[in-house]
Formats: sequence, structure tokens, C-alpha cells
Amino acid sequence: MDKNTFKRLIFVIIFVVIVVAVILIIQNTNKTEKALKELGYSEEDITVIVEKLSETDIEKILNMEYNQKLASIINAKYYIPDNLDRYLAYSPKTDNIDDIISIVNVGADSEWYTNTEETNLDDGIKMLVNKFHYLKEDYSPDDIVPISNWYAYEGHSTKKEVYDHYISMWNDANELGLVLLVNSSYRTFEEQQEQYDMSNDDYASRPGFSEHQTGLALDIVADGVQGNEFENTDEFKWLQENAYKYGFILRYPKGKEHITGYNYESWHYRYVGKELAAKVKESGLTYDEYYAYYCEYKKAC
Ligand SMILES: [Zn+2]
Repeated sequence: MDKNTFKRLIFVIIFVVIVVAVILIIQNTNKTEKALKELGYSEEDITVIVEKLSETDIEKILNMEYNQKLASIINAKYYIPDNLDRYLAYSPKTDNIDDIISIVNVGADSEWYTNTEETNLDDGIKMLVNKFHYLKEDYSPDDIVPISNWYAYEGHSTKKEVYDHYISMWNDANELGLVLLVNSSYRTFEEQQEQYDMSNDDYASRPGFSEHQTGLALDIVADGVQGNEFENTDEFKWLQENAYKYGFILRYPKGKEHITGYNYESWHYRYVGKELAAKVKESGLTYDEYYAYYCEYKKAC
């Protein structure tokens, strides 16, 4: 065989292999589409499923009953592929697709305080502490400084970085005649234990699970105002518009109790730094949701 014949032969073989592979892929896709159709999925659903799911996930879907919400779940903005099984398991509980996605992403498809894991301390000011992420008993933040009585009720302290930004926020609010006051701040594990022992899960976090142990959370109120009466004050309204500019976010918003695990707290602010606070505010997500999607899954926060 001369050199050119050999080259031609090789070319023909490669061509045949490619053609066969393409035929097999098409046949296989047709087979998958047919099986999905038999399960009850519409043409539109099938396009989404085939386009967005891995082969392993499609195989899984083929072994399950038809799920009317599947395509909407896969198409949801904050869909995380690794959570597919849990979205499907949770899907009979609500028709609200965004809720299915959010609840599963933050881990709230489990009971509060179950399937817990230790907070990733490497996240620094971005660390997540909630009913599924805890700080160990011996965790105490560095750089804790006392808060002057000018800005707070008696006996409060927080991380230096938080304090600096709080003062700057306080001053800008004060120029408009508003007076912010801190009435809860850094709390040690032991202090949280005491608070929890005097209360219950409805009113206090379990020790280790309180954001106050991070030294990054401040309860901010106006003089003489109790609980969520705070939301009717000009101070609250100003914080709503401006807190993010100083790195603070409202941590337990109204209507998100099923995601945060906390009743609405108009007074509880968490410092995450200016850049992240702006992004969280813009997203309209709770920090639990934001963290699960952007920090943990996208590794971009
Ligand atoms: Zn608080």
C-alpha cells in the first residue's frame, strides 16, 4: 500500500467512526425523548430536560413518575444541579417553584437544627451562621472592641471593622436628625446558652447557632422603641435605604421566615462588607439564599 492510499484509508475510517457515533447519539436521544414522552412530559418539557440535565439525571428522571414541576424547577434562576433529588422530593409540598428552590438551597427541607455543619471560618466577614451552620463553643472572634455609650445602650461590643462602619452610618443618620442605638451585639457561646436556657426555640437561637457569636451582628433600634415597632420609625426607613452602603444587611426580613428560620426582626443587622451588602440587597435574596447559591455553589461572592 502506498502512502497516499494509507492516508485515504485512515481518513475513511475516521469518517465512518464519526458518522456511526452521530447516528448512535441521535438514536439514543430519540430513545430518551420517546421514553420521556411516554412518562407524560410535553415537547417543551423534554427540550428543557435534554438540554439542561446530565445523562445520569435524565436516567434518574426516567425511573421516576412524571413530575409536573420538573421543567420549571430546572429552569428556575437559582437551580443548583446537585439539589435535583431534594427539589423533587420537596416539590409536592408547595406549588411555589421559587420556594421549592430556596427552601432546598438553604437546607430548610430538613428540620431546623438537623443536618448541621460547622460554619466555614475561612469566609471571614462573609461567614454564614444559621440554624444549619454553627460556630463551635470555643469560637470567639478577634478584634472585639467596646461600643461607646454614645452609639449604644450600656455594655456592648463588636468587631472593630463593624464598629468603624457602624459609626460612619450613625453619623450620616444623625446628620438627618436620626438616632440609632445598639441594644444587642457580640455574644459569647456561654451568653447565648444563658439566653437560650431562659427562653425557647421560638425566641432564642441555640448556642453556637446565633449570628451574635460572630461579632458581625448588631441589633439596632431607636430610643424607647420595642420589637418590630422599630419598622415604623424614620430610623428603620433610613436603614432600609442606606444600611447596605455601610456593609449592613437586614438579616431576617418579613415573609422569609420559612427560609431564615427566624421571625421577622426589623432590628437585626449583619455586617458583610460594603461590596457584598450591595450585591445581596440588589438580589432581593436573604443571606441564607445568597450564600447557598453565590458563595457556595458559584464560588463567587
Ligand atoms: Zn439580633
